Amino acid sequence: MSNMNRQWILASRPKGLVTPEVLQLRETPVPELEEGQALVRVKYLSLDPTMRIWMSDMAQYMPPVQIGEVMRAFGVGEVTESRNADVKKGDKVLGLTGLQEYALISGKESRGFQKLPSIPFLADSQFLGTLGVNGLTAYFGLLEVGKPQAGETLVVSAAAGATGSIAGQIGKICGCRVVGIAGSMEKCKWIKEDLGFDAAINYKDADWKSQLVVATPAGVDINFENVGGEVMQAVLDRMNLHGRVVLCGLISGYAKEDPALASFGQVLIKRLRVEGFIILDYVARFADAAKQIGMWKMSGKIKDKQTTLQGIEKAPEGINMLFSGGNIGKLVVEV
Ligand code: NDP
Repeated sequence: MSNMNRQWILASRPKGLVTPEVLQLRETPVPELEEGQALVRVKYLSLDPTMRIWMSDMAQYMPPVQIGEVMRAFGVGEVTESRNADVKKGDKVLGLTGLQEYALISGKESRGFQKLPSIPFLADSQFLGTLGVNGLTAYFGLLEVGKPQAGETLVVSAAAGATGSIAGQIGKICGCRVVGIAGSMEKCKWIKEDLGFDAAINYKDADWKSQLVVATPAGVDINFENVGGEVMQAVLDRMNLHGRVVLCGLISGYAKEDPALASFGQVLIKRLRVEGFIILDYVARFADAAKQIGMWKMSGKIKDKQTTLQGIEKAPEGINMLFSGGNIGKLVVEV
């Protein structure tokens, strides 16, 4: 065992892609163990799009990695020494090891390391992907948010990636028509021929949007969205009434300084529920609701105001007032 630990340090915040100024390799001695600690030799590190988010200081779902810290990353590895009662030498573990060769498990830190079960036909690295964050993301995202029903059409973007490829296959298990969008012929061939997707579209083809229309003759009921931007726009245009968008990721925006994409990312990060709404869906309950509002108004719990224009000739001017903000409360014309 080498007594040096190579670790990638976040040296500066990226603008665009990750450049040599952003991550810098540092060698430090492997630390001596204190009571309660264990040393893990990292075997596999997971590389995830979200690492680009962790490198930035935008509002996010975990604290940003600080400059000078070891870059955050999931890894699996083997315990080489232990002074921790929960793990022993030889145990395989999974957790936020950081982008480094050796990680310390400390009783004080809640890094959430978990022991890997020993399953003969599963490689350790699969606990970082299909049986780890990506598989679980696909599982819960599709089943809990997407709520797929047999016969519905599901479109998955980044469909040949770690998450998308599993989401699409779970969609097939649920009996959906599954259409994948991916960035090469090879990827499209894989998801269609080996994974059983019903159709695969290469978004780098000039006519990919027309291909999407052809591949979704009955529209789209569920969009498992990993990409955002232009890809998402094209899928949204195909959505059916009461469709569901599983906003899983917006990778097309992670390396861009685009405020519109960043604020849309808040929907994802804050698990916001965004649901279209048209009042006509509630016609049958209008009378009951109006009665309730009327009672609130009579008892003073609801107050209102009206801006009244005199004469029908004022109507066009009045419409424009709505856009310049010339009204307070309800705008009406007294004919
Ligand atoms: P992937 O294995 O899918 O790798 C990323 C893929 O995204 C690339 O291979 C590339 O495939 C595609 N891609 C990258 N940039 C663009 C772009 N500009 N336009 C279109 N496609 C692009 O990664 P993951 O499975 O780890 O992550 C997929 C998504 O899921 C990410 O958005 C990630 O942030 C999100 N995620 C969300 C989680 C959550 O809890 N909400 C958890 C885990 C992941 P191609 O060749 O097809 O372009």
